[in-house]
Amino acid sequence: MAGNDLDNLKPMEVDTRRSSENARGIRGSLLTLLSRPSPFGNETGPLACGEFEPLPKLSSCYATTASDHESPLTKAKILVVGAGGLGCEILKNLAMSGVRDVDVIDLDSIDVTNLNRQFLFRQRDVGTSKAKTAAAFINERCPWMSVTAHHGMIQDKEPSFYSSFDCIISGLDNVEARRWLNATVVGLVEFDDDGDMDPASIIPIIDGGTEGFSGQARFILPRITSCFECTIDAFPPQIAFPLCTIAETPRKPEHCIAYASILQWPREFHDKKLDSDDPDDMKWVYEKALERAKQYNIDGVTYMLTMGVVKNIIPAVASTNAIIAAACVNEAIKYITFCSQNLNSYMMYMGSEGVHCHTFAYEQKDDCPVCTSTVQKMTISKTTTLNELLQEFRAGPLRLKSPSLVSSGGKTLYMQKPPALEKATRSNLDKPVSSLVESGEELTVTDPLLESIAVGVSITFE
Ligand SMILES: [Zn+2]
Repeated sequence: MAGNDLDNLKPMEVDTRRSSENARGIRGSLLTLLSRPSPFGNETGPLACGEFEPLPKLSSCYATTASDHESPLTKAKILVVGAGGLGCEILKNLAMSGVRDVDVIDLDSIDVTNLNRQFLFRQRDVGTSKAKTAAAFINERCPWMSVTAHHGMIQDKEPSFYSSFDCIISGLDNVEARRWLNATVVGLVEFDDDGDMDPASIIPIIDGGTEGFSGQARFILPRITSCFECTIDAFPPQIAFPLCTIAETPRKPEHCIAYASILQWPREFHDKKLDSDDPDDMKWVYEKALERAKQYNIDGVTYMLTMGVVKNIIPAVASTNAIIAAACVNEAIKYITFCSQNLNSYMMYMGSEGVHCHTFAYEQKDDCPVCTSTVQKMTISKTTTLNELLQEFRAGPLRLKSPSLVSSGGKTLYMQKPPALEKATRSNLDKPVSSLVESGEELTVTDPLLESIAVGVSITFE
């Protein structure tokens, strides 16, 4: 833009005359969509959850007078989880769509390496709260929008905090936080005495995620579509590769690097922890990985890859974030206004080999521990100890973090917290499970990862 008067503006200043014209233009196209009847309204889609009613008059979507605040978008209350690469894009898109009431939550502070893509932040903001700085930027730049910032962990908020929103858009970068958020929001769904769901208690999570040139956006209607936990198998486990592969049958350069850092390092250095910021440590891992790769005729071990595997670095690509955030905000707008059909239920974007994108209905998993009430069935040996069973909950398909166990009779078998209860139940750990519970007995497993969801497990002995 070459306008002379724009040159005189300071970075945070806005040419209100121009931007209001521009904003009106951009948002005006959304207004067109919202003010006319549509054959593609939500009620005709596979996930019909509301009926589209065109706005009564053209100006009502973003009118500036107080009497005209009747659009679903201007009334909606949206939570954005994460104010990083996706979060900045999501907040900007919501602002440009005429959404007014938004909360944003993030634990992180701004790092200088964020500045290339997290465009709501400046050099002077380094070290400050992402949530607070992003909110302040949007509130100043887009005065029609009111963003409330929460600097802290999502786990520190009560479930009632989450139930106060119409829709939650999540731009988180880690699986653990997404599992927690999913379980918490699924846990908000209320049932009446007949077992029918209360539709008002269903809050959708629109979950965006990116990894380099790939990304996904999904629409989760708790207990109706598949939830995040239904698809947990699609994510690599916490140790990226099975230990047996790393130890015995390496096939990829990553396996060799993991071998050097996970198995060889502790053997060689016992008490010294590998410091991924120390070039000497990393050089050692790189050289050992290279040796092992030669042994197995595997190409591709480089110092950069070693850094990537050990530090678990996921490259961030600004344009992937922009595409995924746009898809997420589109879903939010469609859900809030019902003007079009929602994604059912998973969109995958692949940009590393050309550009490829497809959507599919990710089915609910029959025995999902979070969004179904199915009891998980497990068969173990008579000699399996309680400690080994807990280990199976961690490493097995449930992928729990620190499980606690109560028997169907209400007897506490093992509790991770509080410390007094942990101490009182610790002696059970070495006992065979068969001495503590009957075969076929249903146990209740709880874990901080899944918040309020209790998983039923029925144990039978071989
Ligand atoms: Zn599920």
